[in-house]
Amino acid sequence: MLSIGEFSSRCGLSAKMLRSYAAAGLLVPAAVDAWSGYRYYSTGQLHQARIIALLRRAGIAVDDIASFFAHPDAIQLDHWEREIVQASAARRQALAEARAALASGRTPSSTRAIIGTKGSDVTSTLVAGTTTHRGGREINQDAVLVADGLFAVADGVGGLAAGEVASRLALDTLDAAFALDRSIAGLLHAYHEANQAVWRRADREEATMGTTLVALAMTTDTAAVALHAGDSRLYRLRNGRLDQLTHDHTVIAELLRAGEISEAEAQTHPHRYVLTRAIGVDPDVDVDYAGVSCKSGDRLLLCTDGLFKALSADDVKAVLAARAEPQESADELVKSAVERGSEDNVTAMVIDVRQQPVLVR
Ligand code: MN
Repeated sequence: MLSIGEFSSRCGLSAKMLRSYAAAGLLVPAAVDAWSGYRYYSTGQLHQARIIALLRRAGIAVDDIASFFAHPDAIQLDHWEREIVQASAARRQALAEARAALASGRTPSSTRAIIGTKGSDVTSTLVAGTTTHRGGREINQDAVLVADGLFAVADGVGGLAAGEVASRLALDTLDAAFALDRSIAGLLHAYHEANQAVWRRADREEATMGTTLVALAMTTDTAAVALHAGDSRLYRLRNGRLDQLTHDHTVIAELLRAGEISEAEAQTHPHRYVLTRAIGVDPDVDVDYAGVSCKSGDRLLLCTDGLFKALSADDVKAVLAARAEPQESADELVKSAVERGSEDNVTAMVIDVRQQPVLVR
């Protein structure tokens, strides 16, 4: 028997990692001392532990490693190899585009992320266009993030510059944490890290600070996942039909969902825009998340309330359906909302799902 310390130093996995693996059903301690809770491993577990350490170095998510060991099959290694080649191709393509943009001095109009759909060889490209405007406000407290396989919008609240700080910090933290673990567990962890970062910052500066957050992430184990807090929204346009895929976390939306008030009453309710959930106002925050079906031809919209309070769902649908390029759609949506006199900041991120031939060499 090896103590957790000895085992950790011999397999190269930290004690903290070993605990999280055990939670995922991987490398469960051979014995746990009933009195002290101390964990012991057998020398026979070293073999698996070293393979896990190597798979982690290859960037494979913990949950994927756990399901691999549940039914070990070398074919899975081929799948991972192909995913790595695709991800690497996507990174090289982005680098080449950055190089071209720098050389030409032209602003790239869109950002692409190549996503693999789990269990199939179909690869989609996501093409995003983003616009944000301060609208009728002095400063813009909305923030946007377009990263590799991660798209997000945040609407900061708080006095002075606090809202601006909150929305940017939440998105940057989400991005940095998700980059370390692209599984769904990694995404949820990143969401909680984002909450903690804003909450600690507000605490340190003794400021009231918070932000909404809506994100669409390409996870390694569940394909596309949406998660959100607050009243920023995700919509999907498919075959001419616009669906709102998120539920607002506002007093009014919760009352409507509970059937306690009518649509008409909702229009005049004094607390209609009060948020019931936001990032950074408590040390812990609940999360709503769900897998999102993304098919070639779909068009997704992430936006802040400044957009949908100024434009009706029909207006939004008409613009999304009319414009060919996501950047044009985003520009047009924000322009219309600002022209209608939106008093709030306005942000739109339009993402197209396009089929793309798989690069296999
Ligand atoms: Mn807003």
